[in-house]
Amino acid sequence: MKAFMPRIEITLSQIEHNARMLCELYGQQGISLMGVSKAVLGEPLIAEAMLQGGVKFIADSRLENIQRMINARIPAQFVLLRTAPSQAESVVENVDISLNTEIETLEKLNYYASLQNKIHQIILMVEMGDLREGILPDDIFLFIKKVLDLPHLKIIGLGCNLACYGGIKPDNQKMLQLSELTDEIEKKFPINLSLISGGNSANYKWYKSTNNVGRINNLRLGESILLGCETVKGQTIPELHTNAFKLIAEVIESKVKPSLPFGEIGRDAFGNIPVFRDRGRHRRAIIALGKQDTLISGLSPNQDLEILGASSDHVVLDCKNSYLKVGVGVNFNLDYGSLLTAMTSPFIKKQFIK
Ligand SMILES: *Cc1c(COP(=O)(O)O)cnc(C)c1O
Repeated sequence: MKAFMPRIEITLSQIEHNARMLCELYGQQGISLMGVSKAVLGEPLIAEAMLQGGVKFIADSRLENIQRMINARIPAQFVLLRTAPSQAESVVENVDISLNTEIETLEKLNYYASLQNKIHQIILMVEMGDLREGILPDDIFLFIKKVLDLPHLKIIGLGCNLACYGGIKPDNQKMLQLSELTDEIEKKFPINLSLISGGNSANYKWYKSTNNVGRINNLRLGESILLGCETVKGQTIPELHTNAFKLIAEVIESKVKPSLPFGEIGRDAFGNIPVFRDRGRHRRAIIALGKQDTLISGLSPNQDLEILGASSDHVVLDCKNSYLKVGVGVNFNLDYGSLLTAMTSPFIKKQFIK
């Protein structure tokens, strides 16, 4: 049987291994993990591998992905990373815990939780400088006072997210600040903040460099588990697998051609005026993959090839010293952006390797 192309080959045992190693590492200082499944669209087998590896929760930013895992009977505590008021009813119905920053949304969650006779658990996200989601520390006391008037909600913890929008690094000072805020809130209000979620795959260097994690007892990890790296510098984490995902696309043309386009230069398919370097005549291959499928700039070929450029359905390669026959598959590693988009492409088949 011929294998379908393009396809992503996913080695579940490597994802499970990564999750297990990270659970062990972070567990040494009392930090539990949420396995973040959004980059793989809540793929149930991957969530299962994360759980086998020991993560305590499965977290996703999209309710649809969580519903997919519930339908597949994945036995996890689910955490919703991004809460929209229009989904409040369904959030309360499907999810145990959600991350929140707006009182209007919480009022809706409280309303539906009362209709469904539930207590919905929430983690309040604190703005620590990255300027994506978060309640400013100065505003959080008044905010909590309002939340305490909503009887069907329970604040179980605080969280923060760094290195996502503003590129601000998680460091000792930020983590200490979150710990202190936790203590202050517990002093002022009769609540117990049992889950302090200090960040994501960017928190690795902070963790390795500190011997006092303060109140931080949870991290939410996607990229580290899936691709085996931290995200501040993009470095590999020792003993983790970095190619649990491989993208394979088919060669549809292989010819010796000039390396400089000939004719008058206008604009390419995306409105840019392209610039080329003359490498003389060389062997070029085209693969059946394009910008509609994945972020091409995040692909790295697993052999000595160079990606010269891409349009919506074609990627052009410099074959260097290889000869690529029409019909063969070319292998790539993916970065997070490529993984995210490739997993979302309906044209790329997802194939699980035992
Ligand atoms: C996506 C996301 C994460 C996971 O980020 P990684 O860099 O993949 O570890 C964690 N927290 C929130 C709020 C997210 O949206």
